[in-house]
Amino acid sequence: MKKPLLIGAILLYATAFAASLAIRASTPEGQTASDVSRLMSARVHEVIPVRSTSDIVKALEKARRNNLKIAISGARHSQGGQTFYPDAIVLDMKKYNRILNIDRANRTIRVQSGATWDDVQEAINPYGLAIRVMQSSNIFTIGGSISANAHGRDPREGPLIDTIDSFRLMRADGNVIQVSRTENAEWFPLVIGGYGLFGVVLDADIRLTADEMLEERTLKMGVERFPEYFAENVRDNPAVGLTIARLSTAPASFLKEMYVTNYVKATAPLPDNPPKLKEERAVELTKFLFGLSRKCDWGKNVSWTLQKRIFASENGTILSRNNAMRPEIEFLEYRDVQRTDLLQEYFILVNRFVPFIEGLGKIVRGSGLNLVNITVRYVPANTDATLSYAKEDSFALVLLFNHRRDSRGISQLERATQDMVDLALQQRGSYYLTYQLFPTPEQLNAAYPGAESFFQLKKKLDPDLLFMNEFYARYAP
Ligand SMILES: Cc1cc2nc3c(=O)[nH]c(=O)nc-3n(C[C@H](O)[C@H](O)[C@H](O)COP(=O)(O)OP(=O)(O)OC[C@H]3O[C@@H](n4cnc5c(N)ncnc54)[C@H](O)[C@@H]3O)c2cc1C
Repeated sequence: MKKPLLIGAILLYATAFAASLAIRASTPEGQTASDVSRLMSARVHEVIPVRSTSDIVKALEKARRNNLKIAISGARHSQGGQTFYPDAIVLDMKKYNRILNIDRANRTIRVQSGATWDDVQEAINPYGLAIRVMQSSNIFTIGGSISANAHGRDPREGPLIDTIDSFRLMRADGNVIQVSRTENAEWFPLVIGGYGLFGVVLDADIRLTADEMLEERTLKMGVERFPEYFAENVRDNPAVGLTIARLSTAPASFLKEMYVTNYVKATAPLPDNPPKLKEERAVELTKFLFGLSRKCDWGKNVSWTLQKRIFASENGTILSRNNAMRPEIEFLEYRDVQRTDLLQEYFILVNRFVPFIEGLGKIVRGSGLNLVNITVRYVPANTDATLSYAKEDSFALVLLFNHRRDSRGISQLERATQDMVDLALQQRGSYYLTYQLFPTPEQLNAAYPGAESFFQLKKKLDPDLLFMNEFYARYAP
């Protein structure tokens, strides 16, 4: 692009960027429930900010009395109506967020379900403790993470269910039960990964690990080399504490080039006074730069070049596990009126990674989707939850699309998503239920063999279907 044109394009984009900030400041929330993607929404009966257990008891009584449904919301980062339902009472759990106990000797924490991972990190950092499994960011609530059975970046840890000892659950009848692998055990695999359909998780006992110092090391490679590199250098290497990879979406190296970042155990021990937790800086600048890659091909090229420089400059950085588990995220906030950012995630067997990426490239190009970002994590097999996504050792590919919000845009995305899910299924993989409801019920059943039993048990354990959301409405037979 010529220089005056380039400057003009940047100025135009900068004006739109400033306008989007103003819109964000003035958008009212009202009684319409939605999520960060703003793709679906519903007029709900009311949103109750939960502060105490008695708030939940009263809300459940009110719902039963008035024949209303209950939906539960945490940080609302799921993207398919998992947190709302038309005319339901929505329990907003974010203020139900106390840390109840830290057991240093046994490395466990008991925490209310509306607390975020950030709250947990703040509480445990002074004791030299760290979280075993959480998402790649710390903004999510414990209840939302348990209900999605989230996974993280530690290649030795499976999904969150592995680290949950027990939790208290308020059922549809208002009774509170303790649930663990040995007590009321039938509820354990249903509630974890159960998207709020079996009751309200009140608090949970979660296993922690020791905090430690890690060294950040990033290297570049071709996509086809990654599975072998990973198997030889990361998967069985106890020195790797955390790992994440990023694929290029820039036109010149589209899905061909990638960077792998490993956080390797450093020789220096954790100091007696553990390092302070870092906060996100220069958010608006990063947001501006990331926004460029949403806009067009040259923006993606600029963004990929800048990312390469950042990887190079951060190589060799020593930081604590807690700080490595606080990557920047605020810059992703996006409030454009006509467009939205959407996440999707596919779980692909390690040896099927390359064919999946080839097929993905064809679908993205063929359907004209704007793929902005793609990152890769690793999840060892775990089938403990009824709706388990990683039935075999898998790479988890997180795709971020920027897309129109109008009905034509949504249909286009729906078709392409169904193609991507088919591609994943052909490769014996699956997809994550926490995002849009585009996959068909047949695709859900193919990816989740436990789905039939999940929906049957829902009807048995909550016969009046008190707990309800759009996910259930779309997929329950
Ligand atoms: C930018 C971004 C990055 C992400 N990265 C990852 C990642 O690295 N790994 C990963 O696994 N996932 C990731 N996710 C997905 C995320 O883990 C899930 O969407 C998770 O559910 C979000 O937590 P939340 O607090 O926003 O939950 P919400 O979206 O508010 O709720 C999710 C579900 O939990 C239920 N729920 C909430 N609280 C309770 C409760 N107290 N009791 C019972 N049910 C409850 C809700 O009803 C809903 O069905 C990411 C999402 C985004 C947007």
